[in-house]
Amino acid sequence: MNAAALALPTSHQIVAIDAALLRGRDWRIALPGSLEGEYRQAIAEHRHQQLLRTGWLALVIFNSFLLVDLLMARDMFWQSVAVRLGLFTPFGVGVLIWAQRQKALLTHRVWLDVTDLIVLVSGWAAAACLAFILLNSRDPMSIYYHAGYMVVILYGVLVQPVGFLWAVLFGLGMLSIHLWSAWGAHLPLPHALQISLFHLLLSAVVLSLAASYLVEKARRRRFLLMRRDQAMTEQLAEVNATLRRLSQADVLTGVANRRHFREHLQQVWERAAGENAPVSVLMLDVDHFKAYNDHHGHPAGDACLQIVAAAVAENVRAPIDFVARYGGEEFVAVLPGATHEVALQVAERVRQGVMDKALPHSASPTARVVTVSVGVATSARPGTDCPDADRLVGRADRALYEAKRGTRNRVQAFRDETPGTQEPS
Ligand code: GH3
Ligand code: MG
Ligand code: MG
Repeated sequence: MNAAALALPTSHQIVAIDAALLRGRDWRIALPGSLEGEYRQAIAEHRHQQLLRTGWLALVIFNSFLLVDLLMARDMFWQSVAVRLGLFTPFGVGVLIWAQRQKALLTHRVWLDVTDLIVLVSGWAAAACLAFILLNSRDPMSIYYHAGYMVVILYGVLVQPVGFLWAVLFGLGMLSIHLWSAWGAHLPLPHALQISLFHLLLSAVVLSLAASYLVEKARRRRFLLMRRDQAMTEQLAEVNATLRRLSQADVLTGVANRRHFREHLQQVWERAAGENAPVSVLMLDVDHFKAYNDHHGHPAGDACLQIVAAAVAENVRAPIDFVARYGGEEFVAVLPGATHEVALQVAERVRQGVMDKALPHSASPTARVVTVSVGVATSARPGTDCPDADRLVGRADRALYEAKRGTRNRVQAFRDETPGTQEPS
């Protein structure tokens, strides 16, 4: 089997994926080369879905915190209603409806960052609403309400699985908003509570970022394993196709081999029988080939067979007709739809085509160059005037035998009445 025939286009893909899987063991997140783009495209649709599903849920939960506003920042309750229902909710609903309508855009990998940015901006906006309440409330309970940022952190880093670097940015932004609202609050926070709250939120950010990092690495690894499976399946299909091609070809001449010829002829025969269309078969044999080998040597004989095969293939009706090496120095051609007259014309063209190659044959009593004899048989109504494909091949073979008995280098049509060519019944 020749090596070039098995140089498969999927092989380099599998090598690249394996390298990326190995590299996945270090701390880097981005996949190498074009795999990063493929990954982003593969997750874009899922991310868009996630943005919408959890976005609506988050909006409901955000407004459910009105109850907490009532309990912990009672003096700011009506301002909370105005900010949550009058400001943030219309903004959130607008963003979600826009995202829903822009599905085609947002599910493209280039826009993946926009999806993440939407999460970031809306998360920060929700946190800013909370900060507004905390900055202005005089309710003594409000100082504990800073813990409410935890929910937003959870949403932006884990529930919406934004890319890790976006998550880092989001976490830093959340900590800044917390510090701003803690230091600027109307009611100063006791020192111990300030430190505890900051510690609480910092821990939440760090731990959720750790989870986000691990989730993202795992997601990319899953993608690579899936791509590897896919590439392996494609490779298997390529190998199968290559093996099939190799198993059907004649090694020396490159035309179809006898096995492929049998399968092909049977198919052509069945189709022709169904359509009541004619089928012709040409059987060719190189004249005085034993003498050619003896005189010019076996390697020259091999080269001669390659040239004869090419001459036959060049002179049949591509791509309708089919050429195969029947064995030794014999070739066969299947001509679907060819009437007897057409088949004789093709046969003559093939015979002339071989002569035109002008391969010197010093030992031939027939001509100075290599020639072929051709037997032609046609079934005008397959299944009626000829019982099966094998019988048609047999008729072409008998016609060839007759051509050989004559002067050689000629085309001979099958004739049932020819003495010595009667078929077995
Ligand atoms: P005829 O004109 O009656 O066909 O005579 P011929 O010599 O061509 O026929 P014969 O059957 O006596 O000889 C066929 C020769 O073809 C014998 C064999 O060595 C040669 N041959 C068969 N296969 C190959 C091959 O793959 N390479 C080479 N070089 N020769 C082959
Ligand atoms: Mg022969
Ligand atoms: Mg011969």
